[in-house]
Amino acid sequence: MKQPIYYFGAGPAKLPYPVLEQIQAEFLDFRNMGSSIIEISHRSKQFDDLLCETDDLFAELVSLPPNYKVLYVHGGASMQFSAVPMNLLPRKPSQKALYFETGNFARLAKEEAEKYGDIVTIASSAGTNYDRIPDFNRTDLDADASYVYLTSNNTIFGTRWHAFPDTGDIPLVIDATSEILSRVMDFSKFGLIFAGVQKNLGPAGMAVVVIREDLLGHAMKTTPKLLNYDIYNKKHSLANTNNTFAIYVINLVLKWLKNEGGVAAIEKVNEAKAARLYALLDKTDFYTGHAQVAHRSTMNVTFNLPSAELLDRFLSQSSENGLTALKGHRSVGGARASIYNAMPMEGVAALVEFMQEFERQNG
Ligand SMILES: *Cc1c(COP(=O)(O)O)cnc(C)c1O
Repeated sequence: MKQPIYYFGAGPAKLPYPVLEQIQAEFLDFRNMGSSIIEISHRSKQFDDLLCETDDLFAELVSLPPNYKVLYVHGGASMQFSAVPMNLLPRKPSQKALYFETGNFARLAKEEAEKYGDIVTIASSAGTNYDRIPDFNRTDLDADASYVYLTSNNTIFGTRWHAFPDTGDIPLVIDATSEILSRVMDFSKFGLIFAGVQKNLGPAGMAVVVIREDLLGHAMKTTPKLLNYDIYNKKHSLANTNNTFAIYVINLVLKWLKNEGGVAAIEKVNEAKAARLYALLDKTDFYTGHAQVAHRSTMNVTFNLPSAELLDRFLSQSSENGLTALKGHRSVGGARASIYNAMPMEGVAALVEFMQEFERQNG
């Protein structure tokens, strides 16, 4: 079967086609058990093997230092907006945390955290509709804070942190949902990094959480068991029946990535893909990018057209040409091409060609 379309949706997003084929091929019989992956026990040896293998693959792909744990946590990325403050705020008596507000998800994370402690916005780019990563004062990094929080790639607005702030002894927590494993990151610089699975890793509804060991065991007493990272760690993410299918898909995606040459190799491809789209935006006045040039994302490319009418025509004609889900988020408007790891260069090339042709006909 041929890949029918190029899907540019922000999430759930395109998965590597060979992974989908493998899921289909082995769906009725997982590892010669005669049963499907969604039928076998999460306590079976076969599932335990899969889980250990997945931990090892992840650790290998990101060169994870030994004092970090990989957890598979229920509820997607937004659930971590609650879990992070519940697990980390009590580290310090002040129950304070510092948040960078760089987009919708950063704001939602902050609003959730405000239920639990003293949350300070260290910098915000709300005033320019989140078209950049804001500057901040290093002197605002209050040593009393339990953690500093940021969203590494802002999915809706198409910006990203190209370099992360040095927060010294204050643990840095990052939401890397829309760029996990798309670029080389030094995990030893983070206290906690999490990612909802549905953009670069697998199906929706779960998050991968990587936490430095010394940050475990500080949770509020009222923290639900299934949001307590310490319990996930002690029970190898199996305090209850976890999403076995999602973990299986993550496993296959990690193997695919390893086979593609790993994170450094895919990062080069990702940069080349994004560069082609941005080169087009920079060459013409017909398309205008939303993100400031210095803060552009390599995963989500946001742009607009000269009028609402042209945008509508662009969205319907691109879709007819097999380039789907290019509509931007309502808070930015315009169009957005999400080009995660699984989007091949051919998909971006086809989009660039379509955009040039559309401009010729309508510009
Ligand atoms: C998609 C996304 C989320 C929300 O993920 P859910 O799993 O739907 O909660 C959070 N943060 C970022 C950066 C995202 O891109």
